[in-house]
Amino acid sequence: MSPADHDAPCVDSVEVRAYTVPTDAPEGDGTLTWDSTTMVLVLARSGPVTGLGWTYAPAAAAQVVRDTLAGAVTGRSALDVAGALDTMVRLVRNAGRVGLVGYAVSAVDVALWDLKARLLGLPLHHLIGAVRAEVPVYGSGGFTTYDAAQLDRQLDGWLEQGIPRVKIKIGQSWGHDVPRDLDRMRQVRTRSGPEVELFVDANGGYQRKQAIRVMEQARDLDVRWFEEPVSSDDLAGLREVRDAVLPDVAAGEYGYDLTYFRRMCEAGAVDCLRADVSRCGGISEWLRAAAVAASFGLALSAHCGPHLHAHVGATIPNLRHLEWFHDHVRIEEMFFDGTLSPSGGTVRPRDDAPGLGLTLRMSDAEPFRVG
Ligand SMILES: [Mg+2]
Repeated sequence: MSPADHDAPCVDSVEVRAYTVPTDAPEGDGTLTWDSTTMVLVLARSGPVTGLGWTYAPAAAAQVVRDTLAGAVTGRSALDVAGALDTMVRLVRNAGRVGLVGYAVSAVDVALWDLKARLLGLPLHHLIGAVRAEVPVYGSGGFTTYDAAQLDRQLDGWLEQGIPRVKIKIGQSWGHDVPRDLDRMRQVRTRSGPEVELFVDANGGYQRKQAIRVMEQARDLDVRWFEEPVSSDDLAGLREVRDAVLPDVAAGEYGYDLTYFRRMCEAGAVDCLRADVSRCGGISEWLRAAAVAASFGLALSAHCGPHLHAHVGATIPNLRHLEWFHDHVRIEEMFFDGTLSPSGGTVRPRDDAPGLGLTLRMSDAEPFRVG
């Protein structure tokens, strides 16, 4: 039970659903391919008010919410999100917070933040405290599975929206097709012109020296961002690449707790830290990760799930940008009313609706339900 004031609204129930949505074309990066994406959606209720939270995770994460987390959160004060997160983290000690369990915890934390903001009638960024009205985004996709025409089409879509930063996947086949990586980077640079910032993400597909050589060969393409050139577990390798190349080296999307982020920063492994609300422990822990990054003089970039990050991204002084990831943008636009426009290269969290400002279109989501 919550230690809170007896008059505070309580969390009456926590429900969870899983939806698997096929991709609109085969998708892949340097080290993985996929043809569908599963969203695990949490609905936290207090009286007539419902908060929404979600993560992109296998449907097994829904089982963790149902069996382990829901009961621990139900009955607590709906205002004390920090206490709920603390309870969940303690509860999963033996289950292991890293991985699926962390995804589940994150989705519940987000739902509780959305619920609290709705109960108080505040947009989430105002509840937390905004430092900016608009959040910079970058277009993200450029899958290794795309042919040249598909890549052009996606790039044109971002450029037409005025998004001045774009990211493609490289490191194809675990770094075994560098010529194609370079061709695709050149294709984007040629089509976008010199003003657009070119970002690349190898998803850990290269070896250390190989990653450095790739950037040497791409020197004329003015790459600004080199994400996971090597495995994000190889902190010394990230540091070695970072010291040798011009683009900013970034990693952190697999971080599940503050210790992970501190170690990455302490190792000098990144120019910009990454963290994901839907993995690291929700909005509560993402804000703390931002503080860890700030303590090392680093900015934070939000990984994927764009509508999970738009509000919280407006609240930290050291935000670099938010990833406008094709796959997740598509699903969030399919499922929710109130989604944001990245026109001009920024999103503006809504001021005219409480919480995350989203409404689930249940009937549109239902055909994809798997749990
Ligand atoms: Mg990435």
